[in-house]
Amino acid sequence: MRLNHPAMPVSLQGTLYIIAAPSGAGKTSLVSQLVQTIPQLTVSISHTTRPPRPAEVNGVNYHFVSVDTFQTMLMNKTFFEYAQVFDNFYGTSKQTVFEQLQQGIDVILEIDWQGAQTVRALMPEAVSIFILPPSRDILEQRLRGRGQDTEAIIQRRMQAAIEEMSHYPEFDYVVINDNFEQALQDLQAIIHSQRLTRPRQQAKHGQLFAKLLA
Ligand code: GDP
Ligand code: ADP
Ligand code: 5GP
Repeated sequence: MRLNHPAMPVSLQGTLYIIAAPSGAGKTSLVSQLVQTIPQLTVSISHTTRPPRPAEVNGVNYHFVSVDTFQTMLMNKTFFEYAQVFDNFYGTSKQTVFEQLQQGIDVILEIDWQGAQTVRALMPEAVSIFILPPSRDILEQRLRGRGQDTEAIIQRRMQAAIEEMSHYPEFDYVVINDNFEQALQDLQAIIHSQRLTRPRQQAKHGQLFAKLLA
């Protein structure tokens, strides 16, 4: 599948970011602050068959759908990527991501390692970031402290965390979420540095460069 618009240089399109982490590492909290502090950056809202948590809102945290609806969407090739995580299905809608990247907006996908592999194969230029907790004990404390999951779900997620974390070497960047502000600054630094790469600066300041060298 081709995501880049043929008439648009890649450097004028938004950057696609993949952010993965074990459940409870803090990716949702960090990403929600990140998009509030950096312009032209948005987060893709996934579709899921998981039931909403008490504090979650349909269309804000996720588009919550039935398995039947998800299957129909799969058949209709709605998804850029999808995966089964903890007995539920999760998928990223192709159209929304595509439209935003074409408008020059950077898009974050908060997805699991399987989805990350799919996206990397389709878009090797995507920038991937893995968020790690400072320890296993703290990860468990955060899952409990969030107060949104049952004990059985917390145990299931802790078991899956080690498998998820084993995939960190596949990612371009690793951020350790010990101090929240520091982790947020690290993520901001990654986004800023991507925006300063030469091809992006050339696309943005082409006239300046031409004048300087004339
Ligand atoms: P959280 O990890 O506590 O935020 O729990 P969630 O139930 O919201 O997400 C569970 C897992 O599914 C996490 O690893 C997410 O990154 C992953 N996930 C969420 N949306 C998507 C998606 O659209 N595609 C894929 N592949 N994974 C997703
Ligand atoms: P994820 O989306 O990775 O599952 P969340 O963003 O829901 O994780 O965070 C899990 C819990 O940990 C939340 O209650 C959040 O407020 C808390 N949390 C996140 N980062 C930190 C941090 N650096 N220090 C302390 N608590 C944190
Ligand atoms: P494939 O992995 O080859 O795309 O899909 C194989 C079959 O598994 C498809 O016929 C599809 O109906 C089913 N399937 C794949 N992914 C999902 C999913 O996320 N949810 C459900 N319910 N079925 C799926």
